[in-house]
Amino acid sequence: MVVCLSDSDASVPRGTELPGHGATFGAMLEEFNTAARLLDLEPGLWKVLTSPKRQIVVSCPVEMDSGETEVFTGYRVQYNIALGPAKGGIRFHPAVTLDEVTALAAWMTWKCAVAQVPFGGGKGGVACDPTRMSRRELERLTRRYVAEIVDAIGPDKDIPAPDVNTNDQVMAWVMDTYSMHTGATATAVVTGKPLELGGSAGRREATGRGVSIVAREAARHAGFSLDGARVAVQGFGNVGSVSARLLRRMGARVVAVTDWKGGVYDEGGLDVDAMIEYARQNQTVDGFPAGRPLSNEALLSLDADILVPAALENQITSKNAAGVRARVIVEGANGPTTPEAHRQLHERGVLIVPDILANAGGVTASYFEWVQNRHGYFWPEEDVNERLEAKMMAAFETVVKTARRYRVDLRTAAYVVAIDRVATVTRMRGMYA
Ligand code: NAD
Repeated sequence: MVVCLSDSDASVPRGTELPGHGATFGAMLEEFNTAARLLDLEPGLWKVLTSPKRQIVVSCPVEMDSGETEVFTGYRVQYNIALGPAKGGIRFHPAVTLDEVTALAAWMTWKCAVAQVPFGGGKGGVACDPTRMSRRELERLTRRYVAEIVDAIGPDKDIPAPDVNTNDQVMAWVMDTYSMHTGATATAVVTGKPLELGGSAGRREATGRGVSIVAREAARHAGFSLDGARVAVQGFGNVGSVSARLLRRMGARVVAVTDWKGGVYDEGGLDVDAMIEYARQNQTVDGFPAGRPLSNEALLSLDADILVPAALENQITSKNAAGVRARVIVEGANGPTTPEAHRQLHERGVLIVPDILANAGGVTASYFEWVQNRHGYFWPEEDVNERLEAKMMAAFETVVKTARRYRVDLRTAAYVVAIDRVATVTRMRGMYA
């Protein structure tokens, strides 16, 4: 059984067959293969690193408020655990598939390696539409999903976290369900928890904080200052809203924001704090009383200095890349740019800070949360933020240096750093049995 890594290239070693292999995992493989060629990776390791270690698919029956039973499909993928226990978020979204979850788990593997946190890569998701579910239904679904995967997760095995449409409350349910099954309170089984329940100060903002730090460094790298720079943000959830707020604080002008419904544009700069409050009340930024309405498509082609895609995968594609006018793209979301779009933009001189570097702040603060849970000793927010900044800066500098050494774009460089680190420990650990 064989994974189709690249139909057109017979020189690429092939791994095991991947159920559900599709376009998103294919995009990850394309990025991987480019860097693996530069590293002259051994064919055996190539196969190992392109094969998910474990893919779990579960059916989650849930009694809905109407009294009817629905069955939701859930996934948990542990892509690679060479560096440590698997780590990765849980996504609730109607479009969740095994292909998407596997690609996201692979990206987590490379992200943890780039950020130098001692975790492997995992990801989970349930195909559901949380906007149409009550809080009680969401709780029942979360608990059933966790019960179905309970043997596979744990503080030393696999540690979930929030992702699209999941938050600290969902993480509290994950932690409680796991703890009820194991008979002991296990805070370290999940990160992104409420502060009162073992969460870390600074974790909720950490991904956006990391995005804003690398955006500042990328602007410097591209030869302009953040002061007054025009920023456009797609997606205004956890990552998008915090990135916008912190970039605004650093002196940038947030001129455009969109989400699933629509958005707004104001050349003079938007009041980000007021937008966060508006989005909290209305579940969208669409209709925010400022500037003029803006569609998602129009946001991507705005004349902005920095574009922060912070929604979902495959937003910047070969179809719309030609219209992108930003000088710098900082990928808050995972996989927002397809490989073909990336090629076109890089050739045009657009500086792209790749997801596995740009949004690594979240997993870095998750690592801090896990460490604090295991020590039972909590750090003040300044310490978390300071250590986060140091880790993001170190990762950014390593990737930039690698890009110079190999004369490649930042994405390829980040993969080179990540693959090299995972391959090195895999060689050291050797092949079991
Ligand atoms: P979220 O659920 O808090 O927010 C998602 C946002 O995207 C919402 O504003 C939503 O309206 C918008 N959106 C959804 N579909 C859209 C569409 N088709 N077009 C435009 N906007 C759309 O999720 P989040 O946690 O902010 O995650 C966003 C991205 O960042 C995801 O790719 C996620 O994997 C990635 N990420 C999140 C974290 C984290 O710590 N939360 C860490 C690393 C990466």
